[in-house]
Amino acid sequence: MPHKIIELTDALSNKIAAGEVVERPSSVVKELLENAIDADSTVIDILIEEAGLNKITVIDNGIGINPEDVPTAFLRHATSKIKNEHDLFHVHTLGFRGEALPSIASVSHLEMTTSTGEGPGTKIILEGGKQKELQSSTSRKGTQIEVSQLFFNTPARLKYLKSLPTELGNITDIINRLALAHPDISFRLSHNGKAILSTNGNGDLRQVIAAIYGVSIAKKAASVHARSLDFTISGYAVLPEINRSNRNYISTIINGRYIKNFALVKAIQEGYHTLLPIGRFPIIILQIEMDPTIVDVNVHPAKLEVRLSKEKELSALITDMLKKAFHKLQLIPEGEISKKQKQDSEQLNMNFDPPKNVEQQDEKPAPVLFQKPNIPDFVPDPDVPVIKEQETLYQSEETLEPAPATKEQVNRMPKMYPIGQMHATYILAQNENGLYIIDQHAAQERIKYEFFREKIGEVARELQELLVPIVLEFSNDEYIRLAEQKAKLEEVGVFLEDFGQNSYIIRSHPTWFPKGEEEEMLRDIIDEAIHSPNISIHKLREDTAIMMSCKKSIKANHYLTNKDMEVLLDTLRAASDPFTCPHGRPVIIQYTTYELEKMFKRVM
Ligand code: ADP
Ligand code: MG
Repeated sequence: MPHKIIELTDALSNKIAAGEVVERPSSVVKELLENAIDADSTVIDILIEEAGLNKITVIDNGIGINPEDVPTAFLRHATSKIKNEHDLFHVHTLGFRGEALPSIASVSHLEMTTSTGEGPGTKIILEGGKQKELQSSTSRKGTQIEVSQLFFNTPARLKYLKSLPTELGNITDIINRLALAHPDISFRLSHNGKAILSTNGNGDLRQVIAAIYGVSIAKKAASVHARSLDFTISGYAVLPEINRSNRNYISTIINGRYIKNFALVKAIQEGYHTLLPIGRFPIIILQIEMDPTIVDVNVHPAKLEVRLSKEKELSALITDMLKKAFHKLQLIPEGEISKKQKQDSEQLNMNFDPPKNVEQQDEKPAPVLFQKPNIPDFVPDPDVPVIKEQETLYQSEETLEPAPATKEQVNRMPKMYPIGQMHATYILAQNENGLYIIDQHAAQERIKYEFFREKIGEVARELQELLVPIVLEFSNDEYIRLAEQKAKLEEVGVFLEDFGQNSYIIRSHPTWFPKGEEEEMLRDIIDEAIHSPNISIHKLREDTAIMMSCKKSIKANHYLTNKDMEVLLDTLRAASDPFTCPHGRPVIIQYTTYELEKMFKRVM
């Protein structure tokens, strides 16, 4: 027999909605701030205690709420922002669903004081969504909301929360994005009484970038603009010489709303294209204005994703804008910039001169000069052991230990003798079994990888003082997240010392650290720890060894002497797994004497 169908109580449906809208403390902060922004506030204070688990307070100087509307604001689907279906497709505000206040109230203790500045204000107190108090209050114009005991009645949600630094990092990240989207509003964030972010609200986006990412990044940000019939884009694109290992520094803002959109991120990457190394991402903030009818914001409960009806046109406009901007700019990285230009760029509102000697890394392959003979596909020699799959590296702890070089392993790769080098990229070698072609870059990556993997695993370390200590600046949310990764980073030889102002100083590193490019490498290792907070020490070691092996390996297009080649081949032979580079690409291919004879029809 079917069960009886009943309508859920408001209290219960609010709690269900809270599951979508209020996932974690940062979602509460996001909703409260969006309301403050929608209320035309110019100054918003955010006070957080214990990553929001103890208390979240948001104080704005916006329009406030009329006394008679205060209880209504806490009803489900009660909003002042839309009235009918037409409005839904012409949304100019960040909110419109009327879900945030009832949802937040249903899972916390909430106290709101609000006033329009005319007549007395109103104070309302709710616990678990139930109204406990409603009375007149002071008449300072604006709204103050205090949320405490978050998730007190949803223990499952509480359990699912991450560590305090992670939650605080999420809060800071959201406030950063809102501050980038609204340079004309002053945001002031503090945690347990300590100031974390303060923007001045004077409308200058570059100053917001400086407050969040640091002055050195703001200095390297080029102002970009583009316009078409449907879109107006403005923002700052940081020069490609400063780049990151993840997409977190890409902010796209549509009509004042920070959104995530894969197509736009792709368009941005396309705009930077060959200027960034593979696997690197830019730092960029784009504010895009468009008619609200071509963007559907009602597809995601937290309104983070949107549907764009002219996504292709917008993507093309972004890519084109960036390509043109970088074409005009001086793109020689720091260190090679002449003194005069350096001084110029030191000023915050620098201008970029047209290029004098733009150096573009051309990654296009060299033109094919002759036709490749029609050689049958290479068939591996059944006697040569099968190349080990890359995944095995990650499988278990044991595989991470440098394997003892058994007799059998040494013999996995036979002795071979260099014949010469091809295109300054491949080593040709021979022995009685046939011809070998070795990718010199991949070979060296493999050798270095095994070296570093072993070194990182060693406990005793000899430290080398840096002549010039390295100071690394982080965005405020990364700085917070980094605090809990410090111990893990020490396991891979990265020793961070707090240096204030969202920065850490590194004064020494293990003697075996690869020389040159230290700063970029340290930054990459730290980024990985920040953005994969749950990474195991083993995986971090593994990835660090891979990163290190990529640095300073002989690149393609590097001439080697016969002696160099001999040494490289012998060292490779001693590797525990000489056949693939740490990324899983082949290091060596072979044509057996028999195959060659077959190709030349010497045998049938
Ligand atoms: P929505 O923002 O989708 O309208 P909310 O539940 O977030 O729904 O808020 C309900 C209503 O309460 C808003 O429409 C707005 O009228 C009022 N409100 C909420 N926060 C503020 C604030 N800080 N200042 C002024 N009005 C507010
Ligand atoms: Mg809202």
